[in-house]
Parts: sequence; structure tokens; C-alpha cells
Amino acid sequence: MTKRDYYEILGVSKGASADEIKKSYRKVAMQYHPDRNPGDKSAEEKFKEAAEAYEVLSDQDKRAQYDRYGHAGVSGNGRGGYHPGGMNMEDIFSQFGDIFGEDIFGSFFGGGGGQRTRGGQRARGTRGSNLRIKLKLTYEEIAKGVTKNIKVKKYVPCNVCHGSGAKDSNSVQTCGTCGGSGQVRRVTNTFLGQMQTVTTCPTCNGEGTTITAKCNNCKGEGRMYGEETVTIDIPAGVQEGMQLNISGRGNAGERGGSAGDLIILIEEEQHKELQREGLNVVYDLHISFTDAVFGTQLEVPTIDGRAKIKIPAGTQSGKIFRLKGKGFPAVNSYEKGDQLVHINVWTPQHLSSEEKAVLEKLSKSPNFKPNPDKNEKSFFDKMREMFS
Ligand SMILES: [Zn+2]
Ligand SMILES: [Zn+2]
Repeated sequence: MTKRDYYEILGVSKGASADEIKKSYRKVAMQYHPDRNPGDKSAEEKFKEAAEAYEVLSDQDKRAQYDRYGHAGVSGNGRGGYHPGGMNMEDIFSQFGDIFGEDIFGSFFGGGGGQRTRGGQRARGTRGSNLRIKLKLTYEEIAKGVTKNIKVKKYVPCNVCHGSGAKDSNSVQTCGTCGGSGQVRRVTNTFLGQMQTVTTCPTCNGEGTTITAKCNNCKGEGRMYGEETVTIDIPAGVQEGMQLNISGRGNAGERGGSAGDLIILIEEEQHKELQREGLNVVYDLHISFTDAVFGTQLEVPTIDGRAKIKIPAGTQSGKIFRLKGKGFPAVNSYEKGDQLVHINVWTPQHLSSEEKAVLEKLSKSPNFKPNPDKNEKSFFDKMREMFS
């Protein structure tokens, strides 16, 4: 299934301001909210779709990535437990804190008991930080896309307490201050009458539980510094400087908090013979003077194996041959670049007396006098064409 455009989902233009995006998201989220559409699967899908669109468009960096590279720029391609672009309900409701304001949330959606803090689940722990790593790719890998298994040094959940930070199940107690809800209600008197506000419990920081004895392995943090192998599918056509965001594969959170994102910064490895120019690939081919005169057939390297190229008789130095479609694919369209083969005719630098004698005999010959064709493109035209 192809993904819908994020701007279209939220019904805003590409130039929409942060405020417009927020307003539109609020409207769409209210329309498709699960509380208002119980049991309606398609509403739930739309609700999730809108949340994902908002998550990207509300973040300046992610929005810029999306504008440049489309879905490939922001949805990452991780495997194993990670669902590309997927957000669970907990993630979605946690957005609402910023959108609707936490206090009004319960009453706004009228979720019955009103105990639904940030989506019915207590906040657990502290979210882990994002992790940035550089990934060097060869031209060949970029041309076809590649799956990489990368060892990432980072915080991982403690394998003794499984992230809880507690020594055992007996050392986790329901918070006495809030009774486990993670929230405390405060009643204040104002000139409008009594107002009730709900705030995060200061004792347990909203977790609903307190720990009486800490896990010995992680000292109660719920995470350890370690290593994880992450499998990443790199789409074909990525470029130096591009970032791939893999949500939830960064540092583990403290005490069971959600993990940060893993951000992959793409770098290109220099190729021995080829040079990338946007989607095109440039190759400098040196041919002998006699091959230029008589013409020949040669093989040249490309980012996808070797390709045959025909050099016609009478080829001038500086000529550029175009191998259609032998360049890089675009990361977000069906467009493909070309390979440009730049011809350099080799002038001999050392000659035997025999060779000298032959050439001296020819040097006065009228056919050896330069006589450029009026229609032959100038160097500047070629440059312009090459980089257009
Ligand atoms: Zn532990
Ligand atoms: Zn509490």
C-alpha cells in the first residue's frame, strides 16, 4: 500500500505554518478519535495516519527531510520489532499532551472515568535519547539499496530486571501519594468557583509505582550500556548527508521508558574510478590516439558492473558519451541518472626513434591539421549539458 502524502492527510498546503498544522491535526484527530468511533477500524487507521503525519510535520527536522526525500526520508526501514512508520496508541496519545494540554484531555474526550492519562497508560520511566551514527556506503550499495547489520553501542534494557529497575517484583510498590494513578487532583478556589486540576504525581513522577529495592545489575536505572545489532534496509539512491530515522532503536529509556530514535547519517565512500554528480556518474576514459582515429569498442566500469561502449572513428578528445540510465536511481521517484563518459585522447610522451620518424612523416600531411567542425559543441556547451 502506498502511503498518502502527509500534507494531504492533514488537509494543509505544503507551505502551512506550524500553527496551521497543529490546528488541522486537532480537527482530524477529534473526527477520528477512537472514543468517538468505537469499533470503527477505518477511523482508527485514519487516526493513526494523522498522528504519524503530525509527528513528522510538527518536527522541523523531520519535516525538512520529508520535503526533500518524501516518506523514505523519515520512515526508516528497520527490521525486527520495529514497524516502519508505525506509532502505537501510547505514542499518539502522548502527542496530545502538547496539542490539547494535559488538563483538558480527560474531560475533552470524556473517556468515562477520566482516569486516562496520556492514553490510558501511566507514563513509565524516562524516554531514552536519540542516537546518531554515521554509515559509509559504496556507490554499488547506493545504486541497488542494501541491508546492513550494524553493531550499535548504546543503552539497552537491563536483562536482570527487564527495565523495571527493581530488585524483584516484591520491591515494586503502588505509590502511596497517588494510589497508583500517577496523577494527583488539586482543587483550587477561584473567583469563578472551584476548579479541579490534574497534575503528575510528584512522588512517583507519574509512574504510579515506587521502588523499595533497586536492581543490583543496573543500580535501579533499568538499562545498561551495551550493544545491539540493528538491521537496516537502506533504500536505493540515498545521498551523502541524508538522514534515515529509525524510531525506537536509539538508547533505551530509564526504568522501562520508551527508547529514543536511531538516526543514520549517510556518507558516500569515494569510488576509485567513478565520480557522482547528483544522479549522474562521471567517468574519465583515456583512449590512445590510434583508437581515436580508427574507432574501437571498449568496456568501462559502471555502478552496476561493466558496460560496452563504442568509440566511433574520428572521436575528438573532450567528447562526452552518455550511457542512458546507468546512473543512480532517485530515492523517491522512478527517475534515473546517466553515466557520462568523458573522452581523453592520450598524447604519447615518450617515443622511439622509429615512432618519431613515422610521425614526422605524417606531421606535414593536410589531414593532421586541426579543422574543427562548426557544429562541434564547444567545451562550455559540453559542460553545460553535462551538469544540466
Ligand atoms: Zn536491572
Ligand atoms: Zn504517585
